Amino acid sequence: MSPARRLAGVKSSPVRDLLALTQRPEVISFAGGLPAPEMFDVEGWSDAFAKASDDRRNLQYGTTEGDPVLRALIAERMTRRGLPTSAQDLLVTTGSQQALTLVTTALVEPGDVVAVEEPTYLAALQCFQLAGARLVPVASDEHGMVPASLAEVLEKDRPTLVYAVPTYANPTGRTQPAARRQEIASLVAAHDVWLVEDDPYGELRYRGEPVPPLATYSDRVLYLGSLSKIGAPGLRLGWLRAPASVMPAAVIAKQAADLHTSTIDQAAAAVYLSNTDLDAHVTGLRAAYRERRDTMIEALPATVPPGTTWSDPDGGMFVWLRLPGEVDTAEVLRDALKHNVAFVPGAPFFAVRPDHATFRLSFTTNPPEDIREGMRRLREAFRDR
Ligand code: PMP
Repeated sequence: MSPARRLAGVKSSPVRDLLALTQRPEVISFAGGLPAPEMFDVEGWSDAFAKASDDRRNLQYGTTEGDPVLRALIAERMTRRGLPTSAQDLLVTTGSQQALTLVTTALVEPGDVVAVEEPTYLAALQCFQLAGARLVPVASDEHGMVPASLAEVLEKDRPTLVYAVPTYANPTGRTQPAARRQEIASLVAAHDVWLVEDDPYGELRYRGEPVPPLATYSDRVLYLGSLSKIGAPGLRLGWLRAPASVMPAAVIAKQAADLHTSTIDQAAAAVYLSNTDLDAHVTGLRAAYRERRDTMIEALPATVPPGTTWSDPDGGMFVWLRLPGEVDTAEVLRDALKHNVAFVPGAPFFAVRPDHATFRLSFTTNPPEDIREGMRRLREAFRDR
């Protein structure tokens, strides 16, 4: 059997492949962007699911747009974060990953150009490739997407869609400052294109003041949110915030994909958001993750070879590094695995011009003592080379 042509060239995610490898209990993995499992609010979620499943309506089919109570609660939360939102602006999705697929299905024709920050989230690259899009990279620096590079791409390549993770990005940990957001929003508005703001990490801030979502600066921005990093990823609950001109197409795409997101999961999330202080939970996550980030950053100078550079993220889950010279971090990973420690090589995060000397470390999954031990193992792996 040969698969459909649109799958040609779309590779399996190396992060997902690595996840299998790093399930070995002896491996300390900095590879996957996994939340800390011991931080999951097991009691809160099990209460919410018990309450939700008491009502037989929550075992029935639901509307495509999503549970009205959940949509209202998410709208209220987004409004409190500075992005005025009503329930009608929202479509509940099966993780924000599905929101990305729905936006792509709704807006991107095969052969269209999608402009992406380089490097960027690799499952977004897969999603655009699967839709038959041509990917054009936009340069990024320590403050994320560079407006001058975006302006050039908008002029020259005429993209249909621009994709960015403006806050605590995957894989770089970088954040666009407010002034840059304003500039980027003006550019997309002037060129009449859509920008997807993918924001699963925005609430995980460890220092500085919150930066307003890019969507506050323009209604040409489609915003994707998620409960994965502040609630739990196994819920598979995310959302799309889109203007009325885009929403009907996204809703049709959603109907064709899965009719609607699990009724019982949405109802449980609605119970959870009504009964639990999610802000207090997020405050706890931020304290724990801040310590983990600090532990990793402190260990780095003694771990990596001299001349290595790395990002110093204000939030999120990732540190992004570059080794000096022309090293291939896929080879370093093989040595690291011999020492039972794992990370993700950086090349797959590049749409077009991979930099093989880059790699990504996730600091959220492991407690500080395991981070210290993992970094010791990584140092050994570098010493072997
Ligand atoms: N976007 C980015 C930038 C991500 O890093 C992730 C998760 N790794 C997602 C989207 C998907 O998140 P969800 O679990 O909400 O589908």
